[in-house]
Amino acid sequence: MQENNHPFRTPVFRLLTIGAAGLCSFIIGLWGLRYGMGDQIAGMPAEVIGAIIASLCALAAAGSSLSFFAGVDESASYVFRETQFDKLTGLNSRTAMIGKIAEAAVETGRTGQPVYLIDIDIDRFKHINDSIGDQQGDELLKLFAERLTRNLPEGIEIGRIGAGEFGVLLPDGATPIQIDELVEQLIELMMKPYQLKTHLQSISISVGIVAMPKDGDDPIVLLRRSNLALQQARSLGVASWAVFHPDMGLVAEHRQWVESELHSAFKRGDFTLHYQPQLDLASKRIVGYEALIRWNHPTRGMIPPMEFIPIAEETGMIVPIGEWVLRKACTDAHMLPDDCFVAVNISPVQFMSKDFMSMVRSILSETGVSPQKLELEVTETAMMQDRERAAKILEELCQMGISIAVDDFGTGYSNLSYLIDFSFQKLKIDRSFIARMEKDSNSGAVVSTIVGLSRALGVHTIAEGVETESQATLLKAAGCEVVQGYFYGRPEPLVINHAPEMQKVANLH
Ligand code: C2E
Ligand code: CA
Ligand code: CA
Repeated sequence: MQENNHPFRTPVFRLLTIGAAGLCSFIIGLWGLRYGMGDQIAGMPAEVIGAIIASLCALAAAGSSLSFFAGVDESASYVFRETQFDKLTGLNSRTAMIGKIAEAAVETGRTGQPVYLIDIDIDRFKHINDSIGDQQGDELLKLFAERLTRNLPEGIEIGRIGAGEFGVLLPDGATPIQIDELVEQLIELMMKPYQLKTHLQSISISVGIVAMPKDGDDPIVLLRRSNLALQQARSLGVASWAVFHPDMGLVAEHRQWVESELHSAFKRGDFTLHYQPQLDLASKRIVGYEALIRWNHPTRGMIPPMEFIPIAEETGMIVPIGEWVLRKACTDAHMLPDDCFVAVNISPVQFMSKDFMSMVRSILSETGVSPQKLELEVTETAMMQDRERAAKILEELCQMGISIAVDDFGTGYSNLSYLIDFSFQKLKIDRSFIARMEKDSNSGAVVSTIVGLSRALGVHTIAEGVETESQATLLKAAGCEVVQGYFYGRPEPLVINHAPEMQKVANLH
């Protein structure tokens, strides 16, 4: 181990110091005898007393020097162990990794041979840790670290650089395969479930990469940049990876601004709801309105939901914001005709929060809205997080008379077998299929298949993002029942929107 390599702490050096200290004390004893202790004590000759004193001095000096050096040694190695190694996983600590990155930066500056810093993060680790408990969380991290080490070439520096975050320093050419291939393989391997003592734990990871010397040589800057790449990867979806690009700094700045501003925006009352009509193709009648949140910032103007909803989800702000949306939509529902419902988007984070059902119940009773006037749009992703719990919640909502639409259908999990376990009334075909329908016959086929599938399941279909007449015609031919999109009406504030919109729609067809 490295702690024995200190040149001043070798056993020979220690013996020399102890010997020197002993010799010095002996000489001091003799000196005392010669000048200060001529008289006899307790009948012993002065020489004997002198010798005893000298020996005691030698012993004390030797003992103290021994304990001094041993102590220095012990505390030095203690400090070394504490700061250089992560206690839980035995990998390099963040401090050690900073040192290793600095060394690698010097080396790559000298040789020109690139070195990659790969930042691997377990998505939502804090949330996992909170739900499974610290002990299981630690077990998961240990297993993760072991698997990571096993699947990387020997001698590669690996460290734990955050709670569920790991750093790998990979010199170019350290593996026979290219970095992108290696990262894809790693993601697949690291995302296989982990057998903990209590249960099988699934995780997803995101990966960010920086290259030295191209992306810098300061370890702190490099770590920040690999983390920016990681954030970008995370925003791309599950199991993604991204390579650092300088623009990512600006994106991160904006993200930080949004994060810090969300709370005051909520308190200030910046949010409003716009409503977009949903039309029954056969009767050409508006059957419902989707509530879509709008953030009108006092100085920066309109901020699109796709820019702040994901951040609100990460920070947990989506819970109070989502509650506000549901309350406002239920209050507004009183202004809609009796046969019109309001559709409210429910974020996966909100759907899985433990107070979700009680929140829905209390808003229904508070606003006095009939459950039949409410539809909740839930994504496949939300349902798949904890299938058992999701199935129970959906069942309860159905029992209450609230309708459920599976939002963005077709973009999430391709395994359709789960649909049988869930109670819902509608599949909402994602707008990406509708956008491609006219040019790409495969998309048309997907739409027809979804319509067929919903018929088999006994549920309805709605298509979102309908922008043209020909899309509408194709959807009608495919047997889709309800449509929504710019062709029929854009999201608008309810008061101006609702009555004229009905007129407009009726005139259109
Ligand atoms: P989404 O649930 O898929 O909502 C439909 C989005 O498509 C809306 O964007 C809407 O304005 C847009 N859209 C409607 N018709 C068309 C069309 O014909 N063509 C195209 N290209 N787009 C169309 P918006 O309002 O920007 O919302 C984006 C996403 O933000 C929503 O996607 C939803 O995931 C989320 N979101 C919006 N409001 C809320 C909310 O209150 N709570 C939660 N949790 N998420 C919300
Ligand atoms: Ca929606
Ligand atoms: Ca959607």
